[in-house]
Amino acid sequence: MEDKFEILQKYFGYSQFRGAQEALIDAQAAGRDAFGVMPTGGGKSLCYQIPALMLPGITLVISPLISLMRDQVLALKSAGISAAYINSSLTPEQLRLVFRNLRQGRYKIVYVAPERLLGEGFLALCQQMPISLVAVDEAHCISQWGQDFRPSYLKIPEFLEHLPRRPVVSAYTATATPAVRRDILQNLRLRNPLLMVTGFDRPNLRFEVRTPDSKRGELLTLLALRKGKSGIVYCSTRKDVEAVCAFLQSKRFAATRYHAGLPDEERQQNQEDFLYDRKTVMVATNAFGMGIDKSNVSFVIHYNMPQSMEAYYQEAGRAGRDGEKAECILLFGKKDILTGKFFIQKSYEESELPEEDRDLLRQRDLQRLYKMINYCETKQCLRQYILDYFGQPLPQPCGNCGRCTGLAVSRKPKGKDKQSPAIQKTGKMASKDITREAQMVLSCIRRIDSAMGHSSTATMTVQVLRGSKNRQLLESGLETVSTYGLMRGYSREEIREILTHLQSVGMVVSGKNEIVSLTPAASGVLFRGEPVIVTLDEAELERRFPQSGSVAADSKLLAALKELRTQLAKEAGVPAYVIFTNATLEDMAARQPKTMEQLLTVSGVGSAKAQRYGKRFLKVLEQFEKE
Ligand code: ADP
Ligand code: MG
Repeated sequence: MEDKFEILQKYFGYSQFRGAQEALIDAQAAGRDAFGVMPTGGGKSLCYQIPALMLPGITLVISPLISLMRDQVLALKSAGISAAYINSSLTPEQLRLVFRNLRQGRYKIVYVAPERLLGEGFLALCQQMPISLVAVDEAHCISQWGQDFRPSYLKIPEFLEHLPRRPVVSAYTATATPAVRRDILQNLRLRNPLLMVTGFDRPNLRFEVRTPDSKRGELLTLLALRKGKSGIVYCSTRKDVEAVCAFLQSKRFAATRYHAGLPDEERQQNQEDFLYDRKTVMVATNAFGMGIDKSNVSFVIHYNMPQSMEAYYQEAGRAGRDGEKAECILLFGKKDILTGKFFIQKSYEESELPEEDRDLLRQRDLQRLYKMINYCETKQCLRQYILDYFGQPLPQPCGNCGRCTGLAVSRKPKGKDKQSPAIQKTGKMASKDITREAQMVLSCIRRIDSAMGHSSTATMTVQVLRGSKNRQLLESGLETVSTYGLMRGYSREEIREILTHLQSVGMVVSGKNEIVSLTPAASGVLFRGEPVIVTLDEAELERRFPQSGSVAADSKLLAALKELRTQLAKEAGVPAYVIFTNATLEDMAARQPKTMEQLLTVSGVGSAKAQRYGKRFLKVLEQFEKE
């Protein structure tokens, strides 16, 4: 049996497993059923793809969505694994070919739509093939309590019974409510499965709820500050999608749209425009995104409140799948509550269920809605609220969400704001390294705290750093702390900007009366030398951090690597992330490997991809080195 670590490295280019991956893989490889509950982006695919490569014979993956299957198979093939899919998008000709290859044992992994399982040809073929593992992805589709119930999932046990030998069965979902979990266990008839529920926390996501007077105005501000970044704006109705998308286009944003009312062709086209980064903002209903593995989505804005926390977390979770910092912002208005109730009232109208059952279902939906409304109105840490809901409580406030940092309320400033004069944006993004300044500010907050035995205000921190002779300061004996006067060369406003930035990335929290204190997130910068890089519109960056050095060199290299990726993606006709994710390119830019061997140490570079693309990436790196 091939070693799981070797497979992880060779095909996927990763050196470590995440969370419960290893335990789930071990179980299946040893012949035991498994059940993994992990959030979107948690890495469920590897949990069945790796055992598929360890076990003899074939693995079937049951998956509900055509687009998801195609993407996963593309990604597997580009990693050097033989795979195929079977669903209604294939022509009879293509289907015959896949069947023939399958019969000849040419595939290791086959994705199949649930409706196909009991189809004559397929079942008969499976009865003759050595099927070692059946993995059920998006397994909540088997539950009537779930969000996306699919009756065809109920056919899975029947299919299994028709096989001469029962394979190992494993199931995966991001939906963690007890009722759904129970349904999956029962309906799939899992046998003593290893159950792992993990990883609901997504530390790289920052949550925020805003209650603006005008959602349009707020959206515009939010997007203007995130120009060039890729993001999704979710609306609850098709009408809103149309209106918001048209509005953004009229403001010259590269926006596109997606909802179930559009013709197939346009939907496909728009989705691709977004996946390939030709359009940066996708305005969509919740029809968009299930199973879409676009790794570089750096924000998800909800223009309307979703119907449940499950729906919200799943949609918001599409941000930051590359592990980079990303934002999930919900725009809440009282009207959302009415809309939510209206939807629930209307739902099940066409269902054939008896009235009693319908009432029961409505009651349950209403409970879910109330939990969602509470999220929008709570004063509590948002991350704690979410993790509580999913049964993975977080002992302490995260120090990073909109509630913890208190930056959530955003009202337009009344009158002119002296400290931030309107600046002409250039529309070009640039980066600066403010690590040194950040270290000074953070360490000053820490010193003051230990000198006085409690945290102090932002104003006091700035005064200490500038070596002020303020009486209160001198009386507290603060001129003796080691950071006193450390930033004499900086203006009050400059230090404030750095502090504001540290707040916005969650290293500092500001409490009552502007009292500032450090969060655990600060320790990386303070004690482990982690860098602090700000990326902003060039002009704004210059205004806010005039004294910090720019990091143009690295971002130039990164841009060059991305350009090559775009080109390779075009040549191969696949989405860019199938070549390498952003996280991989960033690691590559940081390590700057010179040989094939060094290239293989970059996270996300396995041997198939190294062989296929390595030379060309090394060439770009070499060229950069020369310059
Ligand atoms: P899910 O199906 O749970 O939503 P995916 O299986 O699509 O998540 O994985 C999300 C991302 O995480 C993918 O880009 C994948 O390559 C990456 N990933 C998964 N496991 C690891 C790992 N052990 N190390 C690094 N990246 C990983
Ligand atoms: Mg998945």
